[in-house]
Amino acid sequence: MSKQDTLEGTVIKSTGSWYDVEAADGVIYKSRIKGRFRLDGLKVTNPIAVGDKVVVKVSDYEDAGTIVEIKPRNNYVVRSSPRKRHHVHLLASNVDQAMLIVTMVEPKLKQGFIDRFLLMTEPYDIPAIIVFNKADLHDQQAAATYQELHSLYVDIGYQVVLVSATEDQGLAELKDILTDKITLIVGQSGVGKSTIVNAIEPNLDLRTGDISDYSGKGQHTTTFAEMYHLSFGGSIIDTPGIKTLAFNHLEVMDVAHNFKEFFRLSDDCRFNNCTHRNEPGCAVKEAIESGDISPLRYINYNLLVDEVEDQNYWERHKG
Ligand code: GDP
Ligand code: ZN
Repeated sequence: MSKQDTLEGTVIKSTGSWYDVEAADGVIYKSRIKGRFRLDGLKVTNPIAVGDKVVVKVSDYEDAGTIVEIKPRNNYVVRSSPRKRHHVHLLASNVDQAMLIVTMVEPKLKQGFIDRFLLMTEPYDIPAIIVFNKADLHDQQAAATYQELHSLYVDIGYQVVLVSATEDQGLAELKDILTDKITLIVGQSGVGKSTIVNAIEPNLDLRTGDISDYSGKGQHTTTFAEMYHLSFGGSIIDTPGIKTLAFNHLEVMDVAHNFKEFFRLSDDCRFNNCTHRNEPGCAVKEAIESGDISPLRYINYNLLVDEVEDQNYWERHKG
């Protein structure tokens, strides 16, 4: 290969300053990037995401290069940057589906966390799978709450799977779901993400952390997103354990549009751009009255809308 040749590849790992770009032949090029990038008018903390298709200019001497072009993305998943205000953090791009791993217990499911996750995947209609792990720890009450959540999310149109990674329950179904797809996997620390992935694909050996080692505080061994290929076909994009999901880059109507079952009804609301709160003739509120929409979803919706509105209020009135 002559000096300054270019090739196309997929970003399989990002460390913030270096990106591992995998070429079609499997060779990995350690690459850097120059310049600043924006994403649909938003400032991004990381211009390149795992999953990106890029063009790399490579040098003669080493498996190193410079990313000179990002191919158009089919989709991407962002959240507000936890560190930098007014910036979004790109979790991944060009995925076929996204999997959220949660637990009813150890750690206890955080109110609203599932709906926050869905707010990340809905803008591009990325199919979402919600996995409840540690089924073996369910007492009667946890089992009942799980059943409620299961019907709630299945009714909206999401896939829900009950798993016990340690008791080998539901793992075959997960393997089927992952086969031949590129799947973004997200979970709070301690939910058993590494245990699940290692059970499905033992040669990967993701690092697991015993929850008691860090007293549930959420320290995690993984720091950066990384794509791993599966021996049975497909790839996963493993993300660091996520503690919170913030959305200060969104507007109220973005939230309204991305609550799938609300959006379906919004044509029947009296007002265009109904926010489904105090407007008369709101089809969403009628659906809550009649039991067609879950009150839990509506509570979480209002919390998210309030959060977004408060952020925007402070933005307009500061200094
Ligand atoms: P991660 O932070 O999400 O990657 O979580 P880990 O895979 O490191 O698991 C955290 C803890 O939960 C470890 O002690 C695992 O052994 C335990 N664990 C994982 N899956 C299960 C399960 O299905 N049932 C039970 N009882 N414990 C599990
Ligand atoms: Zn409405």
